[in-house]
Amino acid sequence: MTTPTGDEPKRKTEAQGGVGELESTSWPVDSSPGPELRERLLIVEDDPEIGALIGRIAEKCGFETAISADFETLHGENLASYSVVILDLHLPRVDGVEIIRFLAAEECQAGLILVSGVDKRLIKAAEKIARERGLRVVGSLTKPFHPTELRKFLQASRRTSLPTPQTPIPQLSDEEVRRAVNEGAIDVHYQPKVHLSSRRVCGVEALARMNHPDLGLLTAGAFIAQVEKLGLIDELTQLVFERAFEDCGQWKKAGQEMGVSVNFSVQSLHHLALPDELTALALTHGVAPSQFTVEITESSLAQEPIRALDILTRFRLKGFGLSIDDFGTGYSTLQQLERIPFGELKLDRSFIRGAVEGTGARAILSSSVELAHKLEMRVVAEGVETQQDWVLAAQLGCDEVQGYLISRPMAREMLLPWLQGWHSES
Ligand code: C2E
Ligand code: MG
Ligand code: MG
Repeated sequence: MTTPTGDEPKRKTEAQGGVGELESTSWPVDSSPGPELRERLLIVEDDPEIGALIGRIAEKCGFETAISADFETLHGENLASYSVVILDLHLPRVDGVEIIRFLAAEECQAGLILVSGVDKRLIKAAEKIARERGLRVVGSLTKPFHPTELRKFLQASRRTSLPTPQTPIPQLSDEEVRRAVNEGAIDVHYQPKVHLSSRRVCGVEALARMNHPDLGLLTAGAFIAQVEKLGLIDELTQLVFERAFEDCGQWKKAGQEMGVSVNFSVQSLHHLALPDELTALALTHGVAPSQFTVEITESSLAQEPIRALDILTRFRLKGFGLSIDDFGTGYSTLQQLERIPFGELKLDRSFIRGAVEGTGARAILSSSVELAHKLEMRVVAEGVETQQDWVLAAQLGCDEVQGYLISRPMAREMLLPWLQGWHSES
């Protein structure tokens, strides 16, 4: 199948912030990994003999293996397709800590086994860094190691392989969540949105992440509801906006103007001065409110219609863009939403999935797109994971796409290199 422009969307490599085949690429993302995910092993090792030896052992344990001998080839790997990474801490031109940083920035979910000839304390330090950066360390081996040691780790890594949809979202204590928000253990990752016909990147969505001391980097789905329940959402909103303004200011200094969308909880819609405060904060970072879009979920709008109208209209007056998120999960019609000056509508992933699988009403989807266009809103297809999703979004007339097919969310420092890679191939 091809897009209406006649060619297919390109799949970016994982290292470019690109996608895996699979949905469940970050913990605790909510969809199922494909069957091959738990079976692939990436060996990052420059010594061909050791690489081959590890490969033989792993293949006997039922893994499909690939070897990456240096940082450059590692960059080209689709990390999301591996369930285990074996990393030699000494590679040509790069050290293991840099690779650990890279794997963490890529939100690598594979089990990590460190291998090195250096002293045990150094390996332990590298293990600690990896854990603190949110990687799932299975263990470490000092060269020369016995094949049974490696086998033991490979089997262990399988038992604790990627979370599946059945994996419960980790239960965080209120204290853990409170501490994370109050002590600034909240980070922001960015996921690009791409213009469907030109493939130009038209902005990024800021997504909150929590750095948990034991569980590593947690995606928003694991903690936002609890943050709301604890009455801390205003603090989190403030943190995320502040970070987004700052990052946007930095990208601007580096010559890259970037629109940023920020998710907004309906609970933050009680504070009438918020549009003024955020405008002032944007200006202190040298960025214009018009570069920012406030995303609010369709379902939440029904809870606070009047207050939402007041605050969102004021955001619009200050220059911020407004977007309806997760459209299709609530029960509102576009006519009901039309009274708020939204400029963008994001079709929920389940909506797109349902239509692709033939279980959802394609006709409803297509008339929603049509109506949104009549109301002068841009339509974004969310959760685009496959070429089929992309093709459907194009057939429906969506303007923009966002999802793992283009890129998973990434750490701020990865964005500019990712953009370069994406545009140089476009
Ligand atoms: P959302 O705004 O609809 O964001 C999209 C979510 O889908 C993100 O999950 C993203 O990582 C995930 N995603 C993106 N592309 C794909 C894909 O192709 N396949 C699949 N399976 N998932 C994809 P995340 O980061 O866990 O966020 C979940 C929700 O939490 C967000 O949904 C948003 O409603 C909320 N959220 C995130 N950050 C914030 C924040 O800073 N403040 C508030 N109030 N809510 C936030
Ligand atoms: Mg959103
Ligand atoms: Mg959404």
